[in-house]
Amino acid sequence: MRISSVNNRFHVIDGDVALDIEHAGNGRFAASGFDIYERWNELTDWVHSIPADNYRPFDRAAIGAPVAMPRQVFAIGLNYRDHAAESGLDEPDAPLVFTKFPTCITGPTAPIALPSDNVDWEVELVAVIGKRAERVPEDHGWDHIAGLTVGQDISERAIQLAGPAPQFGLGKSFPGFGPIGPAVVSIDELPNVDDLEIGCSLDDEVLQKGRTSDLIFSIPELVARISAICPLLPGDIIFTGTPAGVGGARTPKRFLPRGGTLVSYIEGIGELRNPLI
Ligand code: ZN
Repeated sequence: MRISSVNNRFHVIDGDVALDIEHAGNGRFAASGFDIYERWNELTDWVHSIPADNYRPFDRAAIGAPVAMPRQVFAIGLNYRDHAAESGLDEPDAPLVFTKFPTCITGPTAPIALPSDNVDWEVELVAVIGKRAERVPEDHGWDHIAGLTVGQDISERAIQLAGPAPQFGLGKSFPGFGPIGPAVVSIDELPNVDDLEIGCSLDDEVLQKGRTSDLIFSIPELVARISAICPLLPGDIIFTGTPAGVGGARTPKRFLPRGGTLVSYIEGIGELRNPLI
C-alpha cells in the first residue's frame, strides 16, 4: 500500500489513479492527521476490500508531505559506515539521535529556500511510526512502523556545527529543510527492505548513491533504542541517516547552489524533486 497526501487529503496511490480515503470510507478514516498511521493495519485490510473503480486520476503536483506536522521528528547521525568514514569519525556504538523541528517538514516537490551558501544535502530513508511504541524490544520494532518514505535532511553546516558543543537542531530546521514523500510505502511493497538503493542528484550530477544495507543501526533497533526513552507516537518520523557523498565531507567542501533541482530517491519508494531557490 502506498499512501500520499493529495490536496491535503490522504489517498491510496495505485499507479496513475488514487482513492480518497475519507470519501471512500464515508468518514471511517480521517482525511489528514495521525489516524491512518495509528490504524495502519485496519486501513490496509479495508483498502483491499475497495473495488478498483473507486480510484480516480489525480494531480501529482498536488502531493504534499505524507505527515504535514509530525509531533516528533528524530534524526540519526553517522548511521552509514561509508558516511562515518568520509567524515573521519569512528562508527558510533549507540545511535546519535538529534531532532529536526517539525516546522521544517515540506512536500516532495516544494522549493527549498537556501538561507546561506553553507547548505548541504543528506538523502535518507525515513521511517513513519504506526501504532504507539514505548519500550519496544528490537524484535517487535517493525510492528510499530506504518511504512517508509524518502527524506532529505537539509543542513546549514555553519549553524549546525557552531559553538563549543554543537547543537544540530536549528541548523537543520529552516523552513523547507525536511522534504518527505512522495508516499508512505508499506514494508511488504518493497523488494528487500534491508537493501534498497538510495541516492540523490543535482540536476543530472549524482551526489550520493548507496544502499540501505550499509546502515549501522537498523530501523527496528532504532525503534527499540529511541522508545526506551521517548514514546514514539503515530505519524512520528525517523530520518535514519545518510550514506556517503555529502558536500561538507568533500575537499574542497561543496554546498547547494540556487537554481538547480535536488532529486532524491529510494528504490521502490519514489523520489523527491525540490527546486533550490
Ligand atoms: Zn542526516
